[in-house]
Amino acid sequence: MTVRRACVVGWPVRHSRSPMIHGYWLHQYGLEGSYDIQEVPPEDLGAFLRTLQARGYCGCNVTVPHKEEALRLADHVSETARAVGAANTLWLDGETLFADNTDVSGFLANLDDAHPEWDTDLAHVVVLGAGGAARGVVWGLLSRGAKRIHVVNRNLARADELARLDERVSAARWSELGELLPPAALLVNATSLGMSGQPKLEIDLTPLAKQALVADLVYVPLETELLIEARRRGNRVVDGLGMLLHQATPGFERWFGIRPVVTRELRDLIAADIEGR
Ligand code: NAP
Repeated sequence: MTVRRACVVGWPVRHSRSPMIHGYWLHQYGLEGSYDIQEVPPEDLGAFLRTLQARGYCGCNVTVPHKEEALRLADHVSETARAVGAANTLWLDGETLFADNTDVSGFLANLDDAHPEWDTDLAHVVVLGAGGAARGVVWGLLSRGAKRIHVVNRNLARADELARLDERVSAARWSELGELLPPAALLVNATSLGMSGQPKLEIDLTPLAKQALVADLVYVPLETELLIEARRRGNRVVDGLGMLLHQATPGFERWFGIRPVVTRELRDLIAADIEGR
């Protein structure tokens, strides 16, 4: 039997924790496959993906800055990836290259895991950010029946563009947060603010109800200032690491044939790596 091989393709990509995640599952399930890192500059992505099979790969993850281009290069694109405008998981079926965006299911599965029933009240949601990650979050929330999603972004034109996804989505400025937060049942940070090496996320949570759930996509640090402050005032919180782990499961299943489980042990392993323990 041939050994199944997959990889993560990015530029730069050395920081990726995907090899650790997939390596853990390969070991856990006693599989002979491999998952490695491929640093590919943007101008070489097309040639790399066209020769995926020749290089011995049955599929790959793509990460920054290739997520949009990968969508264009794939032969078949899922409805989710098309709506989000980006792909992160690719696999070959014969000669055909398929693409999906599993950040969406990863975001939803993380919330399902951490707070079952979180989606019973989605009358009013606030999403900070309008980049690729925010697009996936909004698409996921719409699929769970969100009635109104306010996308707050520095660049309003980008938020306006995201609002075109559906009439239930509207664009807003940071200065409007004071009015948008009181009725919100869910607040999601999908900006890169608060990530180590990035500017602080400056937000006053005072108007937010204590029952609201606060989710951060940022996972370095694991406990962002947003989550620390939200927890301190009594809100339930969800960190970004769970999303990272859950977005990996569909790809692993496609490439290696087993639907893997996100275990506490795996979470602890990656958390320790993030925290440099
Ligand atoms: P992106 O496309 O570059 O978007 C960045 C977003 O952050 C934009 O909305 C941008 O606003 C905003 N932003 C950046 N700097 C800002 C500043 N100084 N002031 C105000 N707003 C600022 O990035 P992305 O791919 O969407 O990723 C966003 C975050 O999600 C990253 O931290 C990433 O690591 C995280 N993420 C996590 C997971 C996970 O599995 N947990 C998955 C995907 C992404 P403008 O449009 O105004 O520039």
